[in-house]
Amino acid sequence: MELWYTEQHTDNVRFSIKVDKHLFSGQSEFQRIDVFQAKEFGTFFTLDGLMMVTEKDEFIYHDMIVHVPMATNLQIKNVLVIGGGDGGTVRELTRYNTVENIDMVEIDKLVVDVCREFLALTACKLDDPRVHLYYEDGLRFVRSKENLYDLIIVDSTDPFGPGEGLFTKEFYGNCFKALKEDGILVNQHESPYYVGYAKSMQRAHQRIREFFPVCRVYQAHIPTYPSGHWLFGFASKTLDPLTNVDAEAWNELGINTQYYNTEIHQGCFALPNYVKQLLAASID
Ligand code: SAM
Repeated sequence: MELWYTEQHTDNVRFSIKVDKHLFSGQSEFQRIDVFQAKEFGTFFTLDGLMMVTEKDEFIYHDMIVHVPMATNLQIKNVLVIGGGDGGTVRELTRYNTVENIDMVEIDKLVVDVCREFLALTACKLDDPRVHLYYEDGLRFVRSKENLYDLIIVDSTDPFGPGEGLFTKEFYGNCFKALKEDGILVNQHESPYYVGYAKSMQRAHQRIREFFPVCRVYQAHIPTYPSGHWLFGFASKTLDPLTNVDAEAWNELGINTQYYNTEIHQGCFALPNYVKQLLAASID
């Protein structure tokens, strides 16, 4: 008998991975968590039936969500990660000796516990002394913060369920307030390809634009996410990722990445015309 994990990407499209073992299944206060073992993608975990992280392609997502803002400002010291319970974003941040403090705010402790047990590849740096874990709603956490962080990374689920609040105007406004004068906000920005995801990314972009003077979008190919075409939002008070990046200085750090490099840094901001049009359109 064959066992397959199948995810519904649209009403008419499904994506399947052949599974060797279903390693874990649990229900937290917030969501259902499943962990699978597969030949092609290694261990992977899902939340409410949506793909979060696979051992085979997680490096693409985590490289892009971390190294693009870090290379834009090599002075970043104080970072807030919202979501990111698998630990992959924290792992990449800890590679910078210049980073002094990482606050990670994850709503669901069970995600962290399960990833520590089954996904050591991403969870391996959660015990770094610079990392402070808070099991709270990120929306609530940022409300009381002011002029504190150099970088906020929103490594969230999609805009429904517990992640919904992390795509609201209130949240983006509070992130603006929580950032220092040269602060940067990066978020996972959904996909432009299927209509449902595209609407979420348009809405997020429109809301972020209301607060941040610099507002750009960049892309990567992530095979296990819907359509494989994934976007990230880069917003900041002053710094521009294309002109402020110091490629030479970043390369001198000797950080050995599998996906990110300083040519990709420039290239990933070049968007297809249909994506530019979606981003320029105003929606309600
Ligand atoms: N790379 C993933 C993706 O885009 O598919 C996201 C990974 S990470 C596992 C997302 C995390 O965000 C989840 O563990 C989830 O519990 C957390 N999360 C969702 N809503 C949250 C909230 N309001 N505050 C803090 N964490 C939240």
